[in-house]
Amino acid sequence: MALTVRADLANLPDYVPGRKIPGAVILSSNEVSTPAPPSVLAAIADAATEVNRYPQMANDDLMARTSAYLGVPEERIAIGCGSVSLCQQLIQAMCTEGQEVVFAWRSFEAYPIVTHIAGARGVRVPLTSDYRHDLDAMLAAVNDNTRVMFVANPNNPTGSALHTEELTRFLDAVPDHVLVVLDEAYREFVTDPDLPDGLTLTANRDNLAVVRTLSKAYGLAGLRVGYAVASPEVAGAVRKVGIPFSVSRVAQAAAIAAMDAADELLARCELIAVERQRVRAELLAMGYEVPETQANFVWLPLGERTAAFNEHLLGQKIVVRAFVGEGARVTVAQPEENDAFLAAARTFER
Ligand code: PMP
Repeated sequence: MALTVRADLANLPDYVPGRKIPGAVILSSNEVSTPAPPSVLAAIADAATEVNRYPQMANDDLMARTSAYLGVPEERIAIGCGSVSLCQQLIQAMCTEGQEVVFAWRSFEAYPIVTHIAGARGVRVPLTSDYRHDLDAMLAAVNDNTRVMFVANPNNPTGSALHTEELTRFLDAVPDHVLVVLDEAYREFVTDPDLPDGLTLTANRDNLAVVRTLSKAYGLAGLRVGYAVASPEVAGAVRKVGIPFSVSRVAQAAAIAAMDAADELLARCELIAVERQRVRAELLAMGYEVPETQANFVWLPLGERTAAFNEHLLGQKIVVRAFVGEGARVTVAQPEENDAFLAAARTFER
């Protein structure tokens, strides 16, 4: 019998990251553009001296630090190799072959990919015409076979966010057999006081898991660390399906140092939120449609003009994330990088 790889993988789209062109302004992956602070770099250098040894298998020190940082018991935490890994582990922990995972579309590109890899079936529910989650339609998509629902808040790539009241009403209506994964990758950039804190919501809901990352606000995208907070049962299952030693020794040390430096790192987010308002206001003044955003990026629903917009920006060495035929997602970075983008946006003929 011939060797065969899974035939279904042929149709699985690749995860396509933003291009990293040397010397360009990179606004394509929602990273912070400032390097890690000295205390984090020192922790990385220190951990690097012992890379001949495996890391702690159960992330013991990082678990303890995360627990103290969040005020959540360790039994309710799972650490992963980026929050994308935790999204996949959550599906693996909840779904058997063919069971369903509901998510909005467009939302984070990896949801359909990790769903498929885990052997589950993705169910896409279109966003509303104003680029928000259609919570009623998502509820209507649930059936006895549904096991997981992803809700990114704020949503990637639109930046739109659900308010506490609407999200709470939704969570109350979700049947008990469905785990809602509230993906708060961009929570630290939120300034609207009416937006929920997922950790508060998880405290008394067994069918809610929150996923967060050290990649964005904490500036460790290159090291791959995220965490999930869920019921002890769900968190335990997520840990169980994780690949052994997937969070490196260096990543664990850097994550602890980043939590120690949280005040400094979160102050950077406040600055980005101020820039976000400026960038959006300037784009609106130029006549672009820009939905309200609570994340560190803006969404330009340019439809058929997206590819031309992308080419125009690339010509000026500015890299954004283009979803051809739909829109462009542009990271809000430091003022001079934002200025370069705004200058290019101003000269684009729509
Ligand atoms: N969730 C959302 C909504 C995201 O936008 C991203 C990154 N683009 C992630 C999760 C994954 O982040 P990471 O794996 O770096 O933690």
